[in-house]
Amino acid sequence: MAMLTNDDADVLATKVRETYWRGRSFPVDPISVGRAMGIRIVDAELPDDVAGALLKKVGQDPIIMLHGDDSPSRKRFTCSHELGHYVYRLERGHFDDQAIDYVDYRNDMSRQGTDPEEVSANRFAAAFLMPIAKVKEMAEKKNASIYSLAEFFGVSLSAIRYRLDDLQITLK
Ligand SMILES: [Zn+2]
Repeated sequence: MAMLTNDDADVLATKVRETYWRGRSFPVDPISVGRAMGIRIVDAELPDDVAGALLKKVGQDPIIMLHGDDSPSRKRFTCSHELGHYVYRLERGHFDDQAIDYVDYRNDMSRQGTDPEEVSANRFAAAFLMPIAKVKEMAEKKNASIYSLAEFFGVSLSAIRYRLDDLQITLK
């Protein structure tokens, strides 16, 4: 698996949600999930062009840093993206004697990115917060709009818009 497809990402994200998301409902809280997985998660003073980072020193617990000034929906997506890096590493057999070091510039997290690690982390984040089956279910509801969906999943309008496009779902 050199890169997660949307379907791979959905399977992996579902596994993590079902194991660690005690709230079970939406919006999913990636911060509580990450903490349940043993990751330290903190707000940090990061440069403006950095959204977040995932760092792990050998023999230490991983840490996710989120840009302290970002909105809750943005932090939710960034945190899910960092979880994606971590989970995908574990999936490929990460060992505790290996360091992890991802610093995510806002540009890298954009849709145009082609780096397989970044595409995979973005797909994981989308699948984690907006699972395919739930997006389809919500999109079929009467009066469904990008506003109601963004609120339901706790994501930005651009995130839900992109997700709908990517899954080729059109609202009625
Ligand atoms: Zn990344």
